[in-house]
Amino acid sequence: MEIADTRPRTVLVIGALGQIGQELTAGLRSRYGTGRVIASDVRLPAHAEGPFVQLDALDAEGLTELLRQEQVTEVYHLAAMLSAKGEQHPLQAWDINMRSLLIALEAARGTGVRRMFWPSSIAAFGPGTPHDGAPQHTVMDPSTVYGISKLAGEHWCAYYAARYGLDVRSLRYPGLISYKTPPGGGTTDYAVHIFHAAVTEETYTSFLGPDTRLPMMYMPDAIRATIELMEAPAEQVRVRTSYNLQGFSFTPAELAAAIQRRLPSFTVQYAPDFREAIAASWPASMDDQAAREDWGWAPAYTLDAMVDEMLAQIRLQYPAVLPS
Ligand code: NAD
Repeated sequence: MEIADTRPRTVLVIGALGQIGQELTAGLRSRYGTGRVIASDVRLPAHAEGPFVQLDALDAEGLTELLRQEQVTEVYHLAAMLSAKGEQHPLQAWDINMRSLLIALEAARGTGVRRMFWPSSIAAFGPGTPHDGAPQHTVMDPSTVYGISKLAGEHWCAYYAARYGLDVRSLRYPGLISYKTPPGGGTTDYAVHIFHAAVTEETYTSFLGPDTRLPMMYMPDAIRATIELMEAPAEQVRVRTSYNLQGFSFTPAELAAAIQRRLPSFTVQYAPDFREAIAASWPASMDDQAAREDWGWAPAYTLDAMVDEMLAQIRLQYPAVLPS
């Protein structure tokens, strides 16, 4: 006879001080209660707004102990080295990204975690993937270490789901844009930097060329997608590698034009660097029909709504440049 799992929901966020982790932790806390969500990171926070445990995601014993001690029922594993930084430290990126995922999967399985979330990325696709509307199931030939680790990770998640019945779920996030948290070394970071430059300096030099179109998403949509996926009944989650997730797609020139419509004196130059080749290997948009059908995904923000909110919020961060 199966014994009912009566443990109250206790959430652990690994990599909670990063661009996504800070906002996801806040979102989970407002939904489930501050005390029910433990934040953890290898770094220490400037100030903790709830339970925090300093933990290296490569410390298998420490993680297992924490999951047991706190009777954690849900894990969000966000610790990783991102695409651009990963190309500068390929072996370290592979080690952090892969080993920490396997450690988390094993610890979750061994301690009876009910659900686990781990994000994949558009970087799991490659030059052989159809460029527009990359399908859910398609050619995936990533050319970065980060992308290789994401593609391998997706299959490890599916393996743990099939072999051990671990309820692990995943999204292929597009580039994420937030005014609250700085980006952590990815190829889409320009789409956050440009707003700070627009407010403080009136000029910006983009490290991607003007016409490089990529799938992007405003952070509130990404947080909502993550929580909606994690709250969906298990039988609705039919993709156990990772779901395509599309918000909107734009080029640096189109984003610059959207900002210039609001700030006409803002100018943008282009000086593409090594990140241009990374971006060129990724699709311009994703087909997220499977996410829409399986668990009802629909983005809320348009490009214009995102630009309005980003400019308004970032202005508040620089009171010295606010118009009097
Ligand atoms: P980030 O770099 O901003 O944050 C990562 C966090 O992990 C940092 O706080 C870092 O201190 C922590 N960390 C690193 N190594 C650790 C370790 N060994 N132990 C514990 N913590 C460690 O990254 P992010 O943008 O928040 O991304 C989170 C996840 O989402 C990653 O898996 C990333 O690949 C994925 N993702 C992000 C984006 C994006 O646009 N931000 C897009 C696609 C996928």
